[in-house]
Amino acid sequence: MADNTADMAQREKELQELEEEVLQCRKCVLAETRNHVVFGEGDPHAEILFIGEGPGFYEDQQGHPFVGKSGQLLDRILEVCGFNRQQHIFIGNIVKCRPPNNRNPTPEERTACLPWLYKQIELIDPKIIILLGATALKGLIDPKLRITKIRGQWMEWQGRLVMPTYHPAALLRNPAMKKDAWEDFQQVVAKFREIVDPEHHSDYC
Ligand code: URA
Ligand code: SF4
Repeated sequence: MADNTADMAQREKELQELEEEVLQCRKCVLAETRNHVVFGEGDPHAEILFIGEGPGFYEDQQGHPFVGKSGQLLDRILEVCGFNRQQHIFIGNIVKCRPPNNRNPTPEERTACLPWLYKQIELIDPKIIILLGATALKGLIDPKLRITKIRGQWMEWQGRLVMPTYHPAALLRNPAMKKDAWEDFQQVVAKFREIVDPEHHSDYC
């Protein structure tokens, strides 16, 4: 137990050091137009890691992940699942600086930024990873995979359970997709109860 506590403290310290390093990063052209690097945030020992695409306008202004319209929807989903940003989850992105006009990050930008995400995954050590949308799915797992085909399916990736689901921005554009997303999140809560906390409480599922 003592060892485990020491290991957790060490990983938390390394995550802070990593954040300091990433805040200085200029490994791709997005450094030239960003206002803030968005490292990601949440519980440094979260059992669930959410991965989005990259910062949008408000995230770039504020330096925090998912604080715009998509973030408000994500927060509502989390609340329904009985999760919150301080306790159960960490939220990161495939690229940590905003692509101008919210265009998709290029393969070069993704490749430059991914090592930061790999390091975050190693240090946070989540049991469950939720990929929000196509960019996260393609960026982390395989560019050939289609979100519409495999959302809601558990996969194994480097010893961790991974599930892709729709990005909240897609749900805002197309509310008919919310029904599928809700099924996905019910599965996430069930898996969390199965492998993390059987007592996990949610008023809704
Ligand atoms: N969309 C994302 O993919 N990530 C954010 O942090 C905010 C919006
Ligand atoms: Fe560095 Fe990633 Fe920002 Fe590019 S997007 S400058 S790789 S932190």
